[in-house]
Amino acid sequence: TVVTRFAPSPTGFLHIGGARTALFNWLYARGRGGKFLLRIEDTDRERSTPEATDAILQGMAWLGLDHDGDIVSQFENADRHAEVALQLLAEGKAYKCFATQEEIAAFREQARAEGKSTLYRSPWRDADASTHPDAPYVVRIKAPQDGQTIIKDEVQGDVTIKNDQLDDMILLRSDGTPVYMLAVVVDDHDMGVTHVIRGDDHLNNAARQMLVYNAMGWDVPVWAHIPLIFGPDGKKLSKRHGATGAQEYQAMGYPAAGMRNYLARLGWSHGDDEFFTDAQAKEWFDLPGIGKAPARFDFKKLENICGQHIAVADDAALLQEIEAYLHVKGEKSLNDVKSVLLRDAMYCLKDRAKTFGELLVKAEFVLADRPLVPDEKAAKNLDSVSRGILNELTPQLQNASWSREGLEAVTNAFAEAKEIKFGKMAGPLRAALAGRAVTPSVFDMMLVLGRDETIARLNDAAE
Ligand code: GLU
Repeated sequence: TVVTRFAPSPTGFLHIGGARTALFNWLYARGRGGKFLLRIEDTDRERSTPEATDAILQGMAWLGLDHDGDIVSQFENADRHAEVALQLLAEGKAYKCFATQEEIAAFREQARAEGKSTLYRSPWRDADASTHPDAPYVVRIKAPQDGQTIIKDEVQGDVTIKNDQLDDMILLRSDGTPVYMLAVVVDDHDMGVTHVIRGDDHLNNAARQMLVYNAMGWDVPVWAHIPLIFGPDGKKLSKRHGATGAQEYQAMGYPAAGMRNYLARLGWSHGDDEFFTDAQAKEWFDLPGIGKAPARFDFKKLENICGQHIAVADDAALLQEIEAYLHVKGEKSLNDVKSVLLRDAMYCLKDRAKTFGELLVKAEFVLADRPLVPDEKAAKNLDSVSRGILNELTPQLQNASWSREGLEAVTNAFAEAKEIKFGKMAGPLRAALAGRAVTPSVFDMMLVLGRDETIARLNDAAE
């Protein structure tokens, strides 16, 4: 079975690039009945914080990227990492290096002076153990010095590295702590990871990590190093381009499904499909569809796709997501009455809203309480002529049958009798019912609000 993982370092929030990496791994596993594991790479004790882990978990939860099994802490596996290093040492595949910082610096300086490679070659690699001093040492792997290492990458193709470019990387520091490069390999092996999908900034690491796989005789996972995300200007995505934290997009009112869809398209494609469901993404997602060129973050496209997801979303699910959005924004939660009204109104709100913020602007007619305070534009539609119209129309609506047909019939008959265009009535009705000039259709608002509330608002406005 397929086992993928997401392995963030908990040093900040969930970056949009990290979210996409997580999504790719999640899609790949979920589409294949596999497992998607989560490992927190918290070996850097200075920079790793529990708050950052929480932020990453929250971001993943928002995006619906559920992981299997327990969260693995890399730091907690340190003993196991050291054990592997000591095994390699015992098998003669690693060695104790007693070189001091000064000796290594001197080696490099001389190599530079002689125009040779500055890659450190430790004299201890082939030293006789009986000559070892009683001094601090690091454990280095015995890297092959000739031939080549080939990283078979599903995105980058075969990447060949000449072995004389690889040094005898350190596995254990002089204080006995394992290095990151060892930890990643041991963890991936122990977790049974079959596919490593991650940013191509880790491609160079893959060559060094291969050394450990080979020395231990472990199966190398399938690698897929994905290009980083660029901004619209072709430079690496940064704050300058807009939000880089995944959860900032939640606060901006983008639906998680739209975000997943957009992020999946960021560097991966399935023919010309732009809009797709989770089920389709899980079915379609594959490694050959990942492009070699960096993807550019396109805010317009994100909005467009999000709008399409809002339009087709289930009303109750939308309501839930909007409530979470309000919570994230630190806004007051909706009371039960408003929740029900909002859900009932959803059918006429979700078209053409690209964000929850836009949807809520249109939802003002259910969110506002009487007496409404019309905004500037709406107020212009409530001049004395308009109020006169409302005054006459209201009693007729009061007696209408409360259905779309009934309301339309009464309103049209009124317009005909008074020889005024419906357009002349729509503005005052919008102002009276919503206090806004841009609203769902007046009949939708009446139907959602019901007879009593509609009449009360019309009377408020006519006064
Ligand atoms: N912890 C690494 C990062 O945050 C990921 C390493 C990996 O995926 O192998 O970039």
